[in-house]
Amino acid sequence: MSDNYQKQSQDNLNQNPTSSISSEKIIINKINNKIDNKINNNKNNNKINNIHKQNANAKKEDKENKENKKIENVDKKEQKERVINTELPDDAEYYKKLGFMCGLEIHQRLATSKKLFCSCSALQLSDSIISKIARYQRAVAGELGDIDRSAEFEELRNRRFIYNVHDKLTCLVDIDEEPPHELNLEALKIALALAKAFDMKIIDELQPMRKEVVDGSDPSAFQRTTMVALDGKLKASKQEIGISSLFIEEESSGIISENENEIIYDPSRLGIPLIEIDTDPYIETPSAAKEIAFLIGTILRITGKVQRGIGTIRQDVNVSIKGGARVEIKGMQELDKMDRFIKNEVLRQQKLLEIREKLKINNAKVFEPVDLTSIFKNTKIKIIANQLAKKGVVKGFKLSGFKGLLGSEINPNRRLGSEISDYAKMAKVNGLIHSDEDLSSYGFSDFELDAVKASLNMGEDDSFIIIAGPAENVDKAIGLATERARYASTGIPLETRGVLNSDLCTTKFLRPLPSGSRMYPETDARPILITNEMLNEAEENAPDLEKERRSLYKEISNKEIADQLLLSQKLSLYHNIIKESNADPNFVANTLMQKFTELRRAGYKVDEIKEKSIIEIFKEYASGRITKQAVEELLKIGGENIKNTIKEHKLERISGSDLDQLIEKMSRELKSSDPNILRNTIMSKYKINVSGDELVMKINEFLKREKKNN
Ligand SMILES: [Zn+2]
Repeated sequence: MSDNYQKQSQDNLNQNPTSSISSEKIIINKINNKIDNKINNNKNNNKINNIHKQNANAKKEDKENKENKKIENVDKKEQKERVINTELPDDAEYYKKLGFMCGLEIHQRLATSKKLFCSCSALQLSDSIISKIARYQRAVAGELGDIDRSAEFEELRNRRFIYNVHDKLTCLVDIDEEPPHELNLEALKIALALAKAFDMKIIDELQPMRKEVVDGSDPSAFQRTTMVALDGKLKASKQEIGISSLFIEEESSGIISENENEIIYDPSRLGIPLIEIDTDPYIETPSAAKEIAFLIGTILRITGKVQRGIGTIRQDVNVSIKGGARVEIKGMQELDKMDRFIKNEVLRQQKLLEIREKLKINNAKVFEPVDLTSIFKNTKIKIIANQLAKKGVVKGFKLSGFKGLLGSEINPNRRLGSEISDYAKMAKVNGLIHSDEDLSSYGFSDFELDAVKASLNMGEDDSFIIIAGPAENVDKAIGLATERARYASTGIPLETRGVLNSDLCTTKFLRPLPSGSRMYPETDARPILITNEMLNEAEENAPDLEKERRSLYKEISNKEIADQLLLSQKLSLYHNIIKESNADPNFVANTLMQKFTELRRAGYKVDEIKEKSIIEIFKEYASGRITKQAVEELLKIGGENIKNTIKEHKLERISGSDLDQLIEKMSRELKSSDPNILRNTIMSKYKINVSGDELVMKINEFLKREKKNN
């Protein structure tokens, strides 16, 4: 097999003459064919002149129309206020009836010292940038003549990729100018231990493969991936799920900045070992998917050999329903919301299928585009005027039988129109205007609206879409938009989608789902034989979820908190606090789980406090220098120098003889020895400095002393 996907470097070092039959032209031609140019400008201009005449007559009818418009506006208002109900149920029966299919792909960065196929450090230390490399990547048909649809799509976007070259964190292996070194044994051991944890069948001889990467995140245009094990399982609370495969892969480059023309990549993390764990597609409900993602995350963390922090673990979900299509959702940062994202995807597919049925009944048709530029010569519509000032064009097309459907809500604040707009935007335009929108808010004049309708030959049940921008981009955008609009009558496209709004849990189109065969053998890397010794070691080191759970139950009396902690990213922090401070496990667990959530919700940035500082706070507490309340205060304040903060904010604990003196002083001042009055007064003044239990004890001692003295 030859590379399906080729890269073109600026210096042309890597150009392979046999695969230089770029598909660039093919793609452009394809798009151009779709934009079958039947535009007849003369005909169009005549129509516009007629409109001018009609307009004069139309003014007479205006009064009658105003009444009708009032009614229309009320309808629109109601439509705007209607919020789509996303509260889908969560029982397995409901999803079974829908033909719900759902599987996870979990990617976790490992905490090894070196990268997977070279000797660069995997620790992401600070390093100087010594050079830059620019590359374009082009889709090339493989031996079977197929071009990966996601590669084809990325090429259409024609973006330039820039890679920073680091002194110690990158090398020639990254840019495929040097063969890969031996596979990192440290990473392999972690992978094998994980395979054992999921009771998987480990492959005897591992064969590294290359997987095409289509978005520039790998300067070599491929990622090395090695299947380590197959066919395991994991028990969740309501179902058992198959763990179909475990891979050891190379991490991609991080994005520093991107715009429509260029992406700047940071390849310092490129090549860091990554574990990919895939489940079967038989997860029964959205909440089960969330639970399974949490469980897999925990098993990974129990190894103690994974990187932590934002972006070090990534959970992709594949979702489809009967009649719909497999859609991959990427980039969910908050695992807690995974079920809501899945429910929204189910809803999106349901709604798109409903729209499809209506389009079929309406005998819907998407027409060829028409140049509308001349209509908008003197327009007050800002987004169009801006484009025309830059010598842009305006084109539009008619969608018969779409009326009301472009604006019909398929997800919170998302419509079929937004789905089509996602595609158009890929061709570097700012989006589109469709006729189900409130066009008066754009500033459309009656003349413009009538002229557009006449030019497109619009009937009662027809809709239109207009796109403005540079001529070349508009043609591409119209091509993509008409293609997507036409597909609405066929079904739901296979897509990779990304997070659009993390509060609403909505997604947007990123690119077509990669087609099946993106893999081919890496002939520069030797196969790896798995020995019995390696298997035995893996068995010993396999992370054991149930053992971890049992040991937490022993330490923490509240099982619910223990279970929360088990699934949380804070599990290792908990262990480190207990190990270093000897603080009460119940207090530590409660603080990390409940108090952190409470403070986070109240707007405190507890998640930004460094692990070292949190451990320091608990050390201060365990040694008796601060109270539980002061722990909370310190978490609210944050910062790094805990000892200083304690002094500055007067958070030191008052205890022992200092507390005795305080009680005596209070008693004199209040002229009272009533224990309740003493306790309440001291607690209200020194809540943060005094432990309630100790105070009660000390007051009792004080009263005994008083009695004796009297
Ligand atoms: Zn390297």
